Amino acid sequence: MTATIDPKAPCDLCTLSVGTKPFALVTPQRTFLFCCEGCKGIYQMLYEIKESPDRTVDN
Ligand SMILES: [Zn+2]
Repeated sequence: MTATIDPKAPCDLCTLSVGTKPFALVTPQRTFLFCCEGCKGIYQMLYEIKESPDRTVDN
């Protein structure tokens, strides 16, 4: 556990609850939480958000 995540927290795009395994988008300003990869991708596209490069991506 590195962060406190509320499973009832709303997705930053569609406002559905993000569940226990949210898709996080870490930016210098704040961390966005999304319910799915799609919401995260759309949000990134809409706001041209660049994910912090120091984040480990295991894909
Ligand atoms: Zn969503």
